[in-house]
Amino acid sequence: MFQFNYKLKVSERVKAKCNRHPRYNPERDGRGGIKGGCSTCFSLFDLHQARLSLDAAHREFLRRASPWTRVPRPRTKLQSVKQNGPQMQGTSL
Ligand SMILES: [Zn+2]
Repeated sequence: MFQFNYKLKVSERVKAKCNRHPRYNPERDGRGGIKGGCSTCFSLFDLHQARLSLDAAHREFLRRASPWTRVPRPRTKLQSVKQNGPQMQGTSL
């Protein structure tokens, strides 16, 4: 039997702006709002697309994982709580 554990954790904070087109917003302006084929604005647009893909993948992961997800319940006896045990679980992204 194949068994595996996944632990999903994504936390990145990005603040990006084109110096030549500081008002360009890929979310609002889209690909059509890029002026003069600016490579930096294209990069911002690609970054936005990657973020959307990541969000979609995250939702898909949660949707598929939900039937298998184990919610850790608080134990009544503090003695039996084992945190930071020796077993490493899953793959963190
Ligand atoms: Zn630009």
